[in-house]
Amino acid sequence: MSQDWVARSLKSVWHPCTQMQHHETVPLIPVSHGRGAWLYDHDGKRYLDAISSWWVNLFGHANPRINAALKDQLDMLEHAMLAGFTHEPVVQLSEQLSDMTGNVLGHAFYASDGASAVEIALKMSFHAWRNGGQADKQEFVCLEGSYHGETIGALAVTDVALFKDAYGPLLRAARTVASPDARNAREGETAQDVARRAAADVQRLFEERAGKIAAIIIEPLVQCAGGMAMHDPLYLTLVRELCDRHQVHMILDEIAVGCGRTGTFFACEQAGIWPDFLCLSKGISGGYLPLSLVLTREQVYQAFYSTDVRRGFLHSHSYTGNPLACRAALATLAIFSEDDVLNRNRVRAERLTAALAPLANHERVKNFRQRGMIWAFDAIEPDAGRASTFSRRFFASAVENELLLRPIGGTVYLMPPYVLNDGEIDGLAARTRTVFESVIAG
Ligand SMILES: *Cc1c(COP(=O)(O)O)cnc(C)c1O
Repeated sequence: MSQDWVARSLKSVWHPCTQMQHHETVPLIPVSHGRGAWLYDHDGKRYLDAISSWWVNLFGHANPRINAALKDQLDMLEHAMLAGFTHEPVVQLSEQLSDMTGNVLGHAFYASDGASAVEIALKMSFHAWRNGGQADKQEFVCLEGSYHGETIGALAVTDVALFKDAYGPLLRAARTVASPDARNAREGETAQDVARRAAADVQRLFEERAGKIAAIIIEPLVQCAGGMAMHDPLYLTLVRELCDRHQVHMILDEIAVGCGRTGTFFACEQAGIWPDFLCLSKGISGGYLPLSLVLTREQVYQAFYSTDVRRGFLHSHSYTGNPLACRAALATLAIFSEDDVLNRNRVRAERLTAALAPLANHERVKNFRQRGMIWAFDAIEPDAGRASTFSRRFFASAVENELLLRPIGGTVYLMPPYVLNDGEIDGLAARTRTVFESVIAG
């Protein structure tokens, strides 16, 4: 049964971020259904979804409360266009998110996927400056190792060679500043020292050409796709000050790190700041439906408010503000408050960190790190040939051990949904270690 779906998929489905030829050796798993933290294939084998299906699933698969909300919404309104019309789910979601930012980010603009939210923030920043008489502000700044999506505009502010190099000729150049990645610490430096050094790089650039720069875009606290690079919140506080001083917009891409992933609902809360644009997607719909949005300030909104159509923000997607997706998001936010999720995650995180101690101290592991519900470490594979296939070999071995884990290069990370019980936490740690040791041993 399973093998039939695999063969048919490989024939007709072009899978994302995949060299299809690798499936001659790497397994493709046909999922039949999901329940809680587990995915099940057609043969009844199960896999603990330890990366939340590409970081989107927060409260498990087939969550009863989200399912109930969607079934209710389905009989009310599946979709209506958001130009000229509005509806209850999109209004409630916008109000709740605004409340959660203390009404600093009181205007929500909707799209469907993360990359589109990034496109919106970039366009909105540029256009806001132009409407304000500063049409020269056209450049964007991103961080070394940044990832903001793979459409042409988002890829331009992404700094992952694998995704970017092939399409380089199509992209508008952005300016790249140093990453505050705490692993860059020199002898005797703390994570805060690295943050200060990286902020000084931003300061140099702003002093030289802030008049040309519209915005800096940052993944706050954890640069995820670039390899789970973590930095001190001080970096965000310092860059916020620089943005204020030099009149540059701050875009925080919380597509991966928002929705409680780093321990607070928004990652930027840990730095005590708010950006000018905040992008959300991935977990906001609980991992159910494509939904993204950009939250922004009154001042940005006012820059577009006019009788002139051309001064308006000229951007739309067919499924903008889809009611089903918004309803899934409302059900997701309700779970956060009903279940005291952020506090309970603190307990889960302590237990998993303790259970991972043997791995953290393994002689072939370096840079073990954790923030909120993200854990990562780098494998030491002295042989370059073996290092280049580490990720694929790890994935295959994980699958044999009932785990869905997909390292980024030599970086193994865990980003589980917020529903693991004690047994699942201990099992996840033990199996991750088993997989790591078998892959390292060859
Ligand atoms: C996943 C991701 C994106 C892109 O979102 P898509 O929905 O895949 O387009 C952008 N930024 C960050 C930080 C992400 O992790």
